[in-house]
Amino acid sequence: MKKCAGIKQWNIFQCRFTEIPNDVAENTILFIYGWFGLWNDDLCSLGSVKMAFQNIVDLMKRTKNIKTIIGMRSDLYKKYHQELVKYSDLFQHELFLDSVNTHKDAEYLKYFDKRIKALCKNKECQCRQLSFEMLCKGKDKIIGLPLRINILANYHDLIGNYIRDPDILKVMTDDITTLRENIKKTKGCNWIDYICLKGRFSPSEEFDEGIVKVFDLRITRSSFDVTDTILKRYVRIRYSDQQNNVSAMKAQYVFWHPFIYICVFHSLFKYNQNLVLKHCNVDAILQLVRPEGFDTAYIEVSVDNHGIDLFYERLRQLNLVERYKDHPLVRSASK
Ligand SMILES: [Zn+2]
Repeated sequence: MKKCAGIKQWNIFQCRFTEIPNDVAENTILFIYGWFGLWNDDLCSLGSVKMAFQNIVDLMKRTKNIKTIIGMRSDLYKKYHQELVKYSDLFQHELFLDSVNTHKDAEYLKYFDKRIKALCKNKECQCRQLSFEMLCKGKDKIIGLPLRINILANYHDLIGNYIRDPDILKVMTDDITTLRENIKKTKGCNWIDYICLKGRFSPSEEFDEGIVKVFDLRITRSSFDVTDTILKRYVRIRYSDQQNNVSAMKAQYVFWHPFIYICVFHSLFKYNQNLVLKHCNVDAILQLVRPEGFDTAYIEVSVDNHGIDLFYERLRQLNLVERYKDHPLVRSASK
């Protein structure tokens, strides 16, 4: 996208589907992401997705020379396809980036060798035992192969755990849990929990002292340090902020991939389910938590009736029950 914009001398603008601007300069490539939820399908966002599509259509009518790229998970597009027929013009040129295509295996194998094998000079290292076949046969097939390769490349020290149990969600979740249990008193770990609970951190936005107290996080707004070795293992400036040249003060800090967010969420949820239901950002709970007995996906966690009622009570206090009345968590509440 950047290359193309460079050649044409156009601008680039990236945003979440809920933050589409009213006006964009002429000659802009617009990349819109986060459809149906940043971390997972939130099941009640169809209305806002339709509104976003309408905004794009209007924007394209009003502005000369804009190109729009809709970055959406193909499983979600398939799921909501019927409801979005009116906007099918926006999907004229589809490009699939998933790893479902088996013809791509050779390419991934090359990528695997380059990202994991070639970089490691230690002949005794456990990564020597990791094979491409292991990656193709794990319980975690639902997670795209390139992402799993990137995670294992970024966290080379976890490869041994992955070989013992090829389940990337479990390996990462356990890693975060170990961090919390063993090194909890360092600020970096506490910031990881804070960013998961709030969904993000920005130096210029409100700092939640309440949540810091409840989870005993021992951080202050000014203790945020992007160079902290533990923190920078997981957290980066939001990619779109970086691309849009947002200042360090205004920028938002998030996990380098939504999947890392999901792993931290799983770890926190195991640590204290009730506190998470009571204090973690509502978006994440709506996207990742489902009632017990519900057909949960690989990345989702389930919650019993007590937890459902705790969360329902919170939605009631926030006046959000009506908006999410069709969500399985709300439907399952005893009320
Ligand atoms: Zn190695």
